[in-house]
Amino acid sequence: MMRQYELVERVKRYNPSADEALLNRAYVYAMMAHGNQKRASGDLFFGHPLEVAAILTELKLDEATIAAAVLHDTVEDTEATLEEINKTFGPQIGALVDGLTKIKRLDLVSKRAAQGENFRKLLLAIADDVRVLLVKLADRLHNMRTLQFMPPEKRKRIAEETLDIYAPLAGRMGIQEMREELEDLSFQNLDPEAYEAITRHLREVTAKAEKLVEEIERDLTAKLQAQGIVAEVSGRQKRPYSVWRKMERKSVSFEQLSDIFGFRIIVGTTDQCYRALGIVHTTWPMVPGRYKDYISTPKQNDYRSIHTTVIGPGRQRVELQIRTDEMDQVAEHGIAAHALYKEGVNDNSRLANESRAYQWLRRTIDLLAEGDNPEEFLEHTKLELFHDQVFCFTPKGRLIALPRGATPIDFAYAVHTDVGNTAVGCKINGRVAPLLTELQNGDEVEIVRADGQTPPAAWESLVVTGKARASIRRATRTAVRRQYTGLGRQILERAFERAGRPFADDKLKGALPRLARASLEDVLAAVGRGEMFSGDVVRAVYPDYKGGDGMVRSDKPNGGGKDGSGDGASSGIPIRGLNADMPIRFAPEGGAVPGDRIVGILTPGEGVTIYPIQSASLAAFDNEPDRWIDVRWDFESGPQRFPARIKLQSINEPGSLAQIAQVIADHDGNIDNVNMRRRTQDFTDVTIDLTVWDLKHLNAIIAELRAKRVVSRVDRVTG
Ligand code: MN
Repeated sequence: MMRQYELVERVKRYNPSADEALLNRAYVYAMMAHGNQKRASGDLFFGHPLEVAAILTELKLDEATIAAAVLHDTVEDTEATLEEINKTFGPQIGALVDGLTKIKRLDLVSKRAAQGENFRKLLLAIADDVRVLLVKLADRLHNMRTLQFMPPEKRKRIAEETLDIYAPLAGRMGIQEMREELEDLSFQNLDPEAYEAITRHLREVTAKAEKLVEEIERDLTAKLQAQGIVAEVSGRQKRPYSVWRKMERKSVSFEQLSDIFGFRIIVGTTDQCYRALGIVHTTWPMVPGRYKDYISTPKQNDYRSIHTTVIGPGRQRVELQIRTDEMDQVAEHGIAAHALYKEGVNDNSRLANESRAYQWLRRTIDLLAEGDNPEEFLEHTKLELFHDQVFCFTPKGRLIALPRGATPIDFAYAVHTDVGNTAVGCKINGRVAPLLTELQNGDEVEIVRADGQTPPAAWESLVVTGKARASIRRATRTAVRRQYTGLGRQILERAFERAGRPFADDKLKGALPRLARASLEDVLAAVGRGEMFSGDVVRAVYPDYKGGDGMVRSDKPNGGGKDGSGDGASSGIPIRGLNADMPIRFAPEGGAVPGDRIVGILTPGEGVTIYPIQSASLAAFDNEPDRWIDVRWDFESGPQRFPARIKLQSINEPGSLAQIAQVIADHDGNIDNVNMRRRTQDFTDVTIDLTVWDLKHLNAIIAELRAKRVVSRVDRVTG
């Protein structure tokens, strides 16, 4: 196991001013936390985070990343808490460890269900600091290196995941060496036979071709030198996985696969790259269609190189990459090398400058969001997509993917419609939170439920998922119907009472065919809505009843006398006589205009009052969810005006009010009422009720008023 001083030394080798004390603290803390925990191999667990840290020192990462690597399993696997990590190591390392803990939980989740795509999205969404991804990649690399201790089923799953997610991720981040190792290790575990066969063949070919590689290297070096180009030429065999992929892609056998050698020609300048290319092409015949110039057209991840394939000595196809030293560093070590190169290679202290280290980290994040071919462009698009998503968990660890901006209400409906309909509160990460909280990636959400609830209609305009919206609409419709049914029953009970006939559900059911309704509920709701007259119902149940052809008329004399309310039928019983058109009015204090998000408040007997959703008056109805009615504008701004109210602060000078009125008139607003109150020596408050076509119109007027010198401020008033 790596000793404490070894870890520090590894970091100091590339970063002499590294925070030694921090590394020591992390080492001791993780060692104590993991204690005697063992890995599947039987080794002490603590060896694992150290190996992960060691891998990252090879990438020359900053000490915060190294410390986070040492600590990466403490929160999930030991008694250590995030609070403690934050306190001991500061918020930066705390955030890294937090990200790693969340990703680790994701591992557990993905085991349970095939949520691969979500998994990948969440991985990237959680890792808003690319260093989290780097530690995760190193973690995965070490786990892959020690995979043989795992049971076969687990091995297969982890290898698949590595090949699908982690290896490509390493590639995108420019860490090709790590990508190749991850690929080979996955391949080895997923298809041990094919892996064995290919490595055996590769060994044989190498034995035969050793001379060939040397020959080509020597030959090329000499030819370039003759033209005055000092070049470093190196040949290498391809990796087993890349050979395998090529065999699969081209459906060729290993014997047919000739270009299993790649040569790299490293020169000093870009100019020399092209001169070297000329020499190569005049020495050996080139294979058509294999020439690519990534120097004149670099890949978006800044990869630059010339690729070509020639028929070399012994009719052997040879792949060649020609590039400068700087281009080579970028290709091998990712964007880190690129940034370092630009700033001068020989100054070791440059890494002490943390902000520079961050620059390339940040750039790597940007790179993750870019692509360099159509396939990667798709990936890029997907990446954008997941920036529009948040991923949350149920307390049992189920992953729920939601659009960004989603609330616990959306979450509840995503889990189950019943959960949404009965939601009354929630806990986010164990803490009670409002149902309108915007959810964050990795949140664990627990919905508090109460039976017999109806979701407030106002929720419909606050949720972001279609499922929640549709369910809320359905549930509120049901609630509204229930309300009409109740009203209908009241109306009928009184009507039967006045007619002197007993009212009973059974009797009413018997009359359903005569009323042409399917159920008792239908009749009650129809009466409640005013679509059916109570007198008709009485006559349907008691055909002998001669109470006239309508309750309104026949009731009048009796009704007036009975409850002393004059026109008892219409004033005593609300909504009677209405058809489906509810009387509608607009919020008396401020109105509402098309373009506003609106909600209706039902006042039995009066109808519905329309409020903009932001109206303060709505608070008064918070405890009466049954009165909230889902309403929407069902017309475009048409030939109708709507009331609105604005409040201005105007400078006290002659003619200022005239100027204000002029602006409104010029913009086709109608002033209904003006209220003025002098506030100070200099200012007057002016409240104006006006009518406008829609919100856009109103906003245009407000904007124009704001531009006036005599107006110091303008606000819209909404109840
Ligand atoms: Mn780990």
